[in-house]
Amino acid sequence: TIIIGVLALQGAFVEHMHYLQRLRPQGHTIKAIPIRTLTELQQCQALVIPGGESTVISSIASHTPGLLEALIDFAQDPQRAVWGTCAGMILMADENGIGGGKKKPVKGWQGLGGLKVWRNLFGGQLESFEAQLSIPALSNPSQPFNAIFIRAPAVHSLSPELKDKVEVIAQLPEESCPHLPPSDSPLGEPNPEDLSKIWLKKGKKMVTSFHPELSGDVRIHEFFVEKCVLGR
Ligand code: GLN
Repeated sequence: TIIIGVLALQGAFVEHMHYLQRLRPQGHTIKAIPIRTLTELQQCQALVIPGGESTVISSIASHTPGLLEALIDFAQDPQRAVWGTCAGMILMADENGIGGGKKKPVKGWQGLGGLKVWRNLFGGQLESFEAQLSIPALSNPSQPFNAIFIRAPAVHSLSPELKDKVEVIAQLPEESCPHLPPSDSPLGEPNPEDLSKIWLKKGKKMVTSFHPELSGDVRIHEFFVEKCVLGR
């Protein structure tokens, strides 16, 4: 049995757990457990950080003894599979790599190493949208994936080291990309080419700026387990 933790402090964690439990990768059984304490985190082989609100998730984690530090260590350990969706992607960005929004998350967890993001760049709740994407990396690639964006963050830029190592698995067509975030922020100059990147993988780590756990389609969860949890 593979134990995958889903951080369950706030946001869409139940959906992730349901999707993961449906999978039977290479004959393994998956047990998805909600993570709210340090002891629970220590039991799992891999972690999913759900979408929701990054400021709230990080604030609750910082008020739970030992949890925030352990999550940061987990996110930075190259042997551990970690997937951040939407707010979770924001938390996988560098500590000083988070722009946009009025409040800030308590800390970036630096999980991807070299990722800068801009929160809410696709707009507020009312600008939420869905995009039907053909993603060659998925099983049954001719069937489009319905990607759901809710107050989604965008990639601001990737460090040169990350750029060398990262796989860009899905991008938005140009007409769906947001406007460039301001370049006079402490994050520095955004990279226009990076704005379209909505699914990145580096080793056992991955981030998606959208919500695969709301699409009724388990293929990205299947990809995470096969390529990040069981793969390298
Ligand atoms: N905008 C939210 C944040 O900053 C993320 C939204 C989401 O996860 N759907 O955390």
